[in-house]
Amino acid sequence: MDVISVMDDALSNKIAAGEVVERPASIVKELIENSIDAESTSIEISLKEAGLTSIRVTDNGKGMSKTDATRAFERHATSKLSNEHDLFRIRTLGFRGEALASIASVSKVELWTSDGEHEGTRVQIDGGAVTKQEHAAFRKGTDMTISQLFYNTPARLKYMKTIQTELGHSIDIVNRLALSHPHIAFKLSHHDQVILQTAGTGDQRRVLSDIYGMAVARKMVPFQGENADYAIDGFITLPEMTRASKNYITLIVNGRWVKSYAVNQAVLDGMHTYLPIGRYPISVINVTADPFLTDVNVHPAKQHIRMSKEGELLNLIKTAVNEAIKKTVIIPDAIKRE
Ligand code: ADP
Ligand code: MG
Repeated sequence: MDVISVMDDALSNKIAAGEVVERPASIVKELIENSIDAESTSIEISLKEAGLTSIRVTDNGKGMSKTDATRAFERHATSKLSNEHDLFRIRTLGFRGEALASIASVSKVELWTSDGEHEGTRVQIDGGAVTKQEHAAFRKGTDMTISQLFYNTPARLKYMKTIQTELGHSIDIVNRLALSHPHIAFKLSHHDQVILQTAGTGDQRRVLSDIYGMAVARKMVPFQGENADYAIDGFITLPEMTRASKNYITLIVNGRWVKSYAVNQAVLDGMHTYLPIGRYPISVINVTADPFLTDVNVHPAKQHIRMSKEGELLNLIKTAVNEAIKKTVIIPDAIKRE
C-alpha cells in the first residue's frame, strides 16, 4: 500500500517557520535584510509588545510590483537567485526565498508597496492565505506589518519569554544590522520610545557611538590587515573598557553579520595578555572577501557561514588586533622605567 504523500505548501511553510521564525527578533532580522537587499537608504522598525503584538518595517527601497507583492509570500519565491551558479556568488543577504512564506504562515501580514512606476498595492495575508489585494496609493518603497505572531501555533507562542527579553533580542539584531550597514539610516522604536537611531553617513564609528555611547566609541582603536584572500578592518575597545560578556563582538563578512565562535576567539587571543579575566572587548570586525570563498548556505537563518582558508583569516584578525592594542596600551611598568 502506498502511504507517502507530498505535503501542501501551507504545512511545509509552517514546518520551515519552525526554523526561520524562532521569535519576534527573527522576523525583525528577515524584514530588515529584505529592506537592505532592496537598496533602501532609510529603514524604520516599530515594535509593539516587543514585536509579539506587531512588528512594522518601513523602507524607501525598490518596492514591489502588484504581482510580486503576493508572489513574494510563496515558498521558494525570490528575486535574488535564478540559477545554481548564483548560489556560489551570493551578494545579497537573502537568497532562500522562504522567509516571507514562513513568516506569513504563522502571523497576519499587511503589506503596502510600490515600485514607484505603477500604482501601489496593499495586500493582507492571514496564516499564509491572501485575504485581500487592492490598488493603494503609496510612494516607492515597502511598509510591512506583522501582527498576531504565532496566533496559529500556540506551542511556539507559549515559549516566548518576557517582553524585556524579546525586546533585548530585537535590539541586538538591529544594532548589528546598523553596524553592518553604516550607510543606511536606521530607526528602531518600541511603542513611542526611540531606542536606536543612526544617521546613515557611512561612518561606522558613529554607529558604534549611537549604540554604545560616545565615551566608548571615542576610545575604540581601529585595526586593519590584509592577506592574499581577505581584507579586514574594525574597531576594538581598550582593556579598560571591556564588558562581562562576549556578546559585544560583531563579525561582518561582505556586509553580512554572522556569528563565529572561532573569530571571537581570535579577537580574544589578539588581546590575550591585556584582557582582565572574565572581561571581553566591544569590537566590530569587517571582513571583505571574494564571495566564492564563503559559503552562506549553511543555516536556514543565515547566521553562520563557512570560510575557506579560515585559519589564515583567524591569524590575520588576531595579529591586527594585537598590533592595534600593543600600540595603544601604555604599560605602567614601562613608564616607570623611563
Ligand atoms: P529572499 O530574501 O531570500 O529572496 P524573502 O521571502 O525574504 O526571500 O523575500 C522574497 C522576495 O520578496 C525577495 O526576493 C524580494 O524580491 C521581495 N521583497 C521582500 N521584501 C522586500 C522589500 N522590503 N522591498 C522590496 N522587495 C522585497
Ligand atoms: Mg529575505
